[in-house]
Amino acid sequence: MSEQWIFLNGEYVTKENAKISVYDHGFLYGDGIFEGIRVYSGNIFRMKEHMARLYDSAKSIMLNIPYTKEEFTDLIVETVERNKFDDAYIRVVVSRGVGDLGLDPYKCPKANVVVIVEPLSIFPKELYETGLEIITVATRRNRPDVLSPKVKSLNYLNNVLVRIEAHLANVSEALMLNDQGYVAEGSADNVFIIKNGCFLTPPGYVGALEGITRNAVIEIAKEQGYEVKEEPFTRHDVYTADEVFLTGTAAEVIAVIKVDGRVIGDGVPGIHTRKLLEKFRERVVAEGVKVYAHKATSQVG
Ligand code: PMP
Repeated sequence: MSEQWIFLNGEYVTKENAKISVYDHGFLYGDGIFEGIRVYSGNIFRMKEHMARLYDSAKSIMLNIPYTKEEFTDLIVETVERNKFDDAYIRVVVSRGVGDLGLDPYKCPKANVVVIVEPLSIFPKELYETGLEIITVATRRNRPDVLSPKVKSLNYLNNVLVRIEAHLANVSEALMLNDQGYVAEGSADNVFIIKNGCFLTPPGYVGALEGITRNAVIEIAKEQGYEVKEEPFTRHDVYTADEVFLTGTAAEVIAVIKVDGRVIGDGVPGIHTRKLLEKFRERVVAEGVKVYAHKATSQVG
């Protein structure tokens, strides 16, 4: 593989040289934000939506990103180009930057900005054919009125605890409930259930991140003539659903065939989920910001 180039505060550096101070407040306090974006066949999927979410997260926590959306879009595209990947995952991180050991963000004069591009597949390929076994865990989703899940912050300890519980149970993903017991989301993905041909996914106020894949799937499902509802549901509804699947930039659309030992439907990826995945895969290569013929001003509003 040729050298991997990482964008770090205006420069392109190798992995070994991509280093940040231990006084960075992203490291000390989780004070920062990030995005996970994907390139499919040289197209960056839903770049505009990812940039909108990044800048909304920044606004919410009063973090100054030292680039306009257009400039940052160009920088991300350039980083993808330099790494010469047609299919890859892009990690964008903006931290509060270097300060002193205290919490005070006003002592951090400049954000640290990082863009990493690398190939990725979080679940083995065969799991897209067989589907996942998952569990629900004791760790609850942060209350949205405490730390809004709409802010894609570097504060992922909640989600890390979910992964620890999943690991201990020997499964690769798990669902969190919110403080009222409604199903919220996975550690890094949104959840859908299908009952009698109707798609259900938890609404934002239940405490899930507003996933860009989730929104794309809602769009595609509606185009395919399905009814889609954003409504709270419980574990019982998951156990008794005809189909269950997860969505995320890294996970894409992946079927779930067992939850807490209950077999979902026939115990294989269902017909609607498979259709959705097929349409989603068509969509991701057909649309997006073309890396090699890109003009930010025409793409980002
Ligand atoms: N929920 C959480 C907690 C996540 O980290 C992610 C991944 N970004 C998602 C849902 C899925 O969001 P998206 O489709 O935008 O990747």
